[in-house]
Amino acid sequence: MSKVAVVTGSAGGLGRGIAERLLKDGFKVVLHDINETVLNKTVAELQGEGADVIGVVGDVSSAKDQSNLVDKAVSKFGKLDVFVNNAGVDAVTPFLKIEEKELERVFKINVNGTVFGTQAAAKQFIKQGTKGKIINACSIAGHESFEMLGTYCASKHAVRSFTHTAAKELAKHQITVNAYCPGIAKTEMWDRIDAAMVKHSDGQLKPGEPFANFTAGIALQRYQQPSDVANLVSFLASDESDYITGQAILTDGGLVYR
Ligand code: NAD
Repeated sequence: MSKVAVVTGSAGGLGRGIAERLLKDGFKVVLHDINETVLNKTVAELQGEGADVIGVVGDVSSAKDQSNLVDKAVSKFGKLDVFVNNAGVDAVTPFLKIEEKELERVFKINVNGTVFGTQAAAKQFIKQGTKGKIINACSIAGHESFEMLGTYCASKHAVRSFTHTAAKELAKHQITVNAYCPGIAKTEMWDRIDAAMVKHSDGQLKPGEPFANFTAGIALQRYQQPSDVANLVSFLASDESDYITGQAILTDGGLVYR
């Protein structure tokens, strides 16, 4: 019987790359996003290629939406094996200008979203009496703190911490909790980060320069593709990773060394 995976924030970007890889690995996949239009388009494209997928619209920062997401996955495919807390948002602001609404928005999605997704998935695994795998989107920003990215980095450090705590508490149920920590991938997220860094540079930076400056430090001399991230998530979703839990693994081409 095929395994079943949920990937949040998978209408586009890294989430879509992860969903496509898990489909290739033989999973039935539940795609999920807050952006209904792009989600429907992606689901239609994948179904057109014969993939066994459904789409569920929801907001990861809502515990109710996360439990609805798991319910929909189980009612369609009968069970849950893997839950990828991928959805996340960015913010670029000089430290002295960080405001409450930015802290609330980023933490609500990146941190609360990961907690509520983990809870919804773990409750289902415990109900099933099976092992389960929870895989969180962390980042190089969960290991290192970068200028102008304070709120984002703090939220990803929190994701790494919750990965550790959840791994310790859920291990007795044979549930593993790990995180993938990408470096610099050219998704819409980095398009927004680049534009915001240009805006805050008072004319010092041109469009594309912040991205070029960050990628210049990558030892393997190329920016990241969604498939680079999906390779790691594929391993973490497979039985091969059964003895690994509580790890936040870097996949960044050699940028942050831990
Ligand atoms: P992206 O912005 O390109 O895509 C994120 C997706 O999540 C979008 O489809 C968006 O609609 C969805 N989303 C946003 N808020 C949501 C919410 N509240 N509920 C449900 N869906 C929501 O981002 P990406 O680059 O694909 O990043 C994916 C994950 O990887 C994020 O957690 C991000 O922090 C992390 N990450 C990305 C990079 C990178 O270089 N792109 C590096 C490190 C970590």
